[in-house]
Amino acid sequence: MSWVQERRIGEFRVTSLTDGQFRLDGGAMFGTVPKVLWSRVTDSDDLNRIPLRVNPLLIQRGGENILVETGLWDQGGEKFDHMYAAERDESVFRGLEAVGLGAEDIHLVICTHLHFDHVGRSVTALGEPTFPNARYVVQGQELHDARHPHERSRASYIPQTFEPLVDAGLFDVVEGEHDLRPGLSVLPLPGHTLGMQGVVLRSGGQTLVYTADLLPTLNHAPLPYIMGFDLYPVTTLETRRRYFPQWAEEGAVICTPHDPHVPFARLTVGERGAFHAVPDAVAVSP
Ligand SMILES: [Zn+2]
Repeated sequence: MSWVQERRIGEFRVTSLTDGQFRLDGGAMFGTVPKVLWSRVTDSDDLNRIPLRVNPLLIQRGGENILVETGLWDQGGEKFDHMYAAERDESVFRGLEAVGLGAEDIHLVICTHLHFDHVGRSVTALGEPTFPNARYVVQGQELHDARHPHERSRASYIPQTFEPLVDAGLFDVVEGEHDLRPGLSVLPLPGHTLGMQGVVLRSGGQTLVYTADLLPTLNHAPLPYIMGFDLYPVTTLETRRRYFPQWAEEGAVICTPHDPHVPFARLTVGERGAFHAVPDAVAVSP
């Protein structure tokens, strides 16, 4: 089965893409949750790394093509690819090609945050914007923090993935919740970073949420399953408590940036109020 799947959300056509697989330390991915618990829901390799994907999302309506996230950094050479076990079995470009699009057809790129596994394909090896006709949307807080990293945040930000976009004046910097188009908005989801944002589509009585790293994979749905990577984990918890009940109640389609298997899901509330994320397999052909 191809990873590329399409859904309709009212007027929007939404296509799940993938920029391949990678691996991160399982302990870091599950924070305070011990391995005795997380090993029940995911495999790990002999270096304790768990399988993940990088999952950009394509949103289309009325001839406009909007990309949420650009992929995993591809200019780190063998050392980088080895450290993160990058398997470039698929790419965001092949996914776009599958729906008849080239890089030049993207009009808008939404950056949830500026970590290398989210904006890694935004700039070519020549230092030019990968999507030459696109503007790039980011929260002001995120752009500031990415450009002023500290010892705890520095490893996640690679200046050459975003500085050329700053130089070219291609960022549309937004502050807080912001309507980008009718039915399409960005929503601050602080915690993983202070300036992270999600993407919300509402059309035809349906809702879709791109969760960014507030919910990195389906296995992270229980409220305390918060990554050790998060800079403000208690803020992550507050953000989850604020939005998970709402998304579950309205039956929103959930897209996560790193689930290795499932492009579309829904949040449900199980026994004793615990959240689960379940695959939403209803794929609608265009
Ligand atoms: Zn991530």
